[in-house]
Amino acid sequence: MGRITLDKVSKSFGAVEVIPPLDLTIEDGEFVVFVGPSGCGKSTLLRLIAGLEDVSGGQIRVDGQDATTVPPAKRGLAMVFQSYALYPHMSVRKNIAFPLRMAGLDAAEQERRVTEAAKVLNLSDYLDRRPGQLSGGQRQRVAIGRAIVREPAAFLFDEPLSNLDAALRVGMRLEISELHERLKTTMIYVTHDQVEAMTMADKIVVLHAGRIEQVGSPLELYRTPKNLFVAGFIGSPK
Ligand code: ADP
Ligand code: MG
Repeated sequence: MGRITLDKVSKSFGAVEVIPPLDLTIEDGEFVVFVGPSGCGKSTLLRLIAGLEDVSGGQIRVDGQDATTVPPAKRGLAMVFQSYALYPHMSVRKNIAFPLRMAGLDAAEQERRVTEAAKVLNLSDYLDRRPGQLSGGQRQRVAIGRAIVREPAAFLFDEPLSNLDAALRVGMRLEISELHERLKTTMIYVTHDQVEAMTMADKIVVLHAGRIEQVGSPLELYRTPKNLFVAGFIGSPK
């Protein structure tokens, strides 16, 4: 399960309100993309959902349960970081197993989950390598593997491909879409790239200065943008 509900969630840093109270529902299994220009609050919103930032107001629920003050490791959501967050001195196997080791799972269960994740991500032959001996795309897959082994209710991605080159980015975009089709787990994906949003999303949330301008499928946003900001950002002819 992975239904996430935000009820009047807001965030201020000091006196500056970067997210005015907003409501949002993410259905179980949806691929939702938060898109908007730099500084509009995408990362902050994702970090609130992940529990990496405390809300200033409102409530976050995961599958109906109040998660607003639940610590990140216990929310059942897994943030996928950029591949440079891997530990260079650890093998791929140890990198992927890291969250399980922290959670104290026994060695056999760790190995079972790592083997399974490596299979899904085509990393089975690379488990004994170090991140430095992998390509950029493989490193990004290891970062995703570290999230998969936690068997989360949802995956949270914050511009995971922004430090990859353009060709690799297109390939990884496809891989993440395929992974979603296979796992059918809720994914929330943050990007400032309209093409990424239009090609990957079931549902796009367009953000502008911390507010939701519009929520809809790529086609809905393209055909019936609510305002000039959405039209301009999505590139539709309004
Ligand atoms: P985006 O990810 O869309 O580029 P962010 O969520 O990173 O935007 O930032 C939204 C706004 O919140 C920006 O104005 C940013 O400067 C501000 N902000 C983000 N994090 C902090 C923080 N820890 N302290 C103060 N201001 C912050
Ligand atoms: Mg950001």
